[in-house]
Amino acid sequence: METSLISWEEARGRVLSQIKPLLPVELATLKTLGLATAERIISPEDNPPFANSAVDGFAVRSLDTKDASKENPARFTVVANRPAGRLDATRIQPGQATRIMTGASIPDGADAVVMIEDTDAWDEKAGRGLPVQDIVLVHRPAEPGQHVRPRGEGIQSGDTLLEPGHVIRPAEIGLLISVGVETIRVHPKPRVAVFSSGDEIVPSDQDPGPGQIRDSNRPAILAALTRRGFQTLDLGLIPDDEAQLTLAVERGVREADFVISTGGVSVGDRDLTHHVLSRMGNVDAFKVAMKPGKPQVFGEVENVPVYGLPGNPVSALVVFDVFVLPALRKLSGWGDVLRPLFMARLERPIQRKGGRTEFVRVRLETENGGWMARSTGPQGSGILSSMTRANGYAILSAAVEHLEAGTDVLCMLWED
Ligand code: AMP
Ligand code: MG
Repeated sequence: METSLISWEEARGRVLSQIKPLLPVELATLKTLGLATAERIISPEDNPPFANSAVDGFAVRSLDTKDASKENPARFTVVANRPAGRLDATRIQPGQATRIMTGASIPDGADAVVMIEDTDAWDEKAGRGLPVQDIVLVHRPAEPGQHVRPRGEGIQSGDTLLEPGHVIRPAEIGLLISVGVETIRVHPKPRVAVFSSGDEIVPSDQDPGPGQIRDSNRPAILAALTRRGFQTLDLGLIPDDEAQLTLAVERGVREADFVISTGGVSVGDRDLTHHVLSRMGNVDAFKVAMKPGKPQVFGEVENVPVYGLPGNPVSALVVFDVFVLPALRKLSGWGDVLRPLFMARLERPIQRKGGRTEFVRVRLETENGGWMARSTGPQGSGILSSMTRANGYAILSAAVEHLEAGTDVLCMLWED
């Protein structure tokens, strides 16, 4: 088996460069949560569509309040009551005001709104439906445009709403709907097939015999996918057998957009993943200078990306996090597929063997206004318990062997 030792950044670059987003589809905007735009989306309308009030109060001509003071208030005749959702033909004349509610359109002639709290002679008896011809007193000059949300303040017709590769979240749904964009072109969410392999593994609902262990990788990887909204296809547990592995991969590439396997990627004589895949398609076995997660296999079979994760349970999840998730996001058309990294301070010293970049499971917390990273315990590649206590990785560079407490280290937070 031909292998080469490469850095994790280089490995990730190689993987990403081989992934192309799935072909776009047109969908109702309301159905696009979590999907990425496949085009630039231009606004067909202004928003807000009309100038409206940001407060409850009175719409006036600011000029009429120029000399207003506590002692000498400006006096207005209230000529109309303007609730939100209605238009009327009132035109404000000098000395006139309309009562106005938040979101109601600004009447012609008015250029400012005075908050109810800044007026007087508010007739309690009259209540909400203040009759016309009431008088209102204003104690302070109003700035032109005060409490007015101009038409097109947020968006103007022709503005770019979203660039291609933008992931739709709740605010994006709201924005698009607010300007009447009812359908958009997006990349569909990939369907991902998963199988685990290994003669010593038994399905999770069976009791392991001597020398056997339960299949924990498949449930964990399926969960990691489901959590990000991917559709999954469970191809089951496959023994270390060429014919059966071949059948699983054939079904995976036929029925899914991406195939993930676990186990069988190292150099043992029952490690058949690379052997089988390279007969079926174009795949690469590479050793990544990282810990955990060194042996990996990646390539394509029938133009479908196939990723062979290492069998060790922590390695499988780390490689999923660092390589597979960005790859799946690229396949989903996301423009930005990498989680942001940031520096955190080590709470305790770390002594380690250099040589490979280490992804240390840590608990990341903010403390005294900065991030603090604390190792969650033994870091063996089969020790899932230290993963359950963690919420991120500290990424220790290959060369470093001793890190003092208080050293700043590069970190990745998992939750997103
Ligand atoms: P392999 O990559 O097949 O050499 O497996 C490496 C280690 O991971 C071995 O100790 C396996 O027993 C373990 N392992 C492989 N597959 C699984 C799995 N599906 N669930 C839990 N452990 C596994
Ligand atoms: Mg194995």
